[in-house]
Amino acid sequence: MNSTIKRIGVLTSGGDAPGMNAAVRAVVRSAAFFSIECIAVYQGYQGLISNNTKQLNARGVNNIINKGGTVLKSARCLEFRTPEGRKKAFETIQKNNIDGLIVIGGDGSFTGAMIFQSEFNIPVIGIPGTIDNDIYGTTHTIGYDTALNTVIEAIDKIRDTAISHNRLFFVEVMGRDAGHIALNTGIGAGAEEILIPEEDMGLDRLLDSLKRSEKSGKSSSIVVIAEGDKTGKNVFEIAEYIEKNLPYYEVRVSVLGHMQRGGSPSCFDRVLASRMGVHAVESIINGKSNVMVGIDDSKMILTPLSQAIKGKSKINKDLIRVSEILTV
Ligand code: ADP
Repeated sequence: MNSTIKRIGVLTSGGDAPGMNAAVRAVVRSAAFFSIECIAVYQGYQGLISNNTKQLNARGVNNIINKGGTVLKSARCLEFRTPEGRKKAFETIQKNNIDGLIVIGGDGSFTGAMIFQSEFNIPVIGIPGTIDNDIYGTTHTIGYDTALNTVIEAIDKIRDTAISHNRLFFVEVMGRDAGHIALNTGIGAGAEEILIPEEDMGLDRLLDSLKRSEKSGKSSSIVVIAEGDKTGKNVFEIAEYIEKNLPYYEVRVSVLGHMQRGGSPSCFDRVLASRMGVHAVESIINGKSNVMVGIDDSKMILTPLSQAIKGKSKINKDLIRVSEILTV
């Protein structure tokens, strides 16, 4: 390919997600395939400011496709939010002769990338890596599928103990602004009710529903709650309210927390990350900038970073309907 891009930088930023390593591997290997050099930037934008960099060749990313987390490390970097910080970051770009930057991260990382691009005119391409699946312009983000499988496995185990003791379990899963994880794992794990940030089902409706199931002969139940569910109450407050009003059940709370981010990436996430990495490198070589690579209907697509950040990834309403029908 004939391109002005001779050397690219790659970094992972913001919350880590399983599959980020597969994306890094794909970026480094695609660069090697197209005979361009690749500089790994460690610790996200922090490493760009402090010049924490290393050139990687195709062999430098051996044996990472199966690893969770990110071998490039990630960081939340306050300094990059300042013009002075970004100026230092650009000095690193110049020192290393980097012609374009690939940023693997979430919407915060893309916001930073967009500002950086507008200030210094350096081509940037985003690859969506976040377990929350809350980015517009892609039906799946890297890490989401693995997180779903991790949560399902955990809830299956909780179900075993719930059944043995006639217990009602409230399981909190990640998702401050988006209910994708809660809704999908709730259906997949056969939860009684699912509470998400996008829809307000209300505590009384939850109570009625649980009373109905108790009458219909259910001796144990699982309710999946997203961190940011619309009732505005946290999982402990919800559990307390239900326990007061439903003495039949022993109520327990389980907050799954950070284990949802970890683990070896699923096959889906590895393939997705590999495709996105290849597509990101091809796009930057072809003169694209300020866009995010995404997947839609199994095809790779590009969306302007500004839209990816501002647009809302919508919850699938049919999933809400299905979950309501199946808790009959
Ligand atoms: P995520 O990418 O997972 O959404 P964050 O919101 O923490 O994670 O963003 C990651 C990093 O991106 C921040 O630590 C910061 O360095 C950079 N960033 C986020 N928002 C901005 C902004 N408005 N301006 C400049 N940099 C930003």
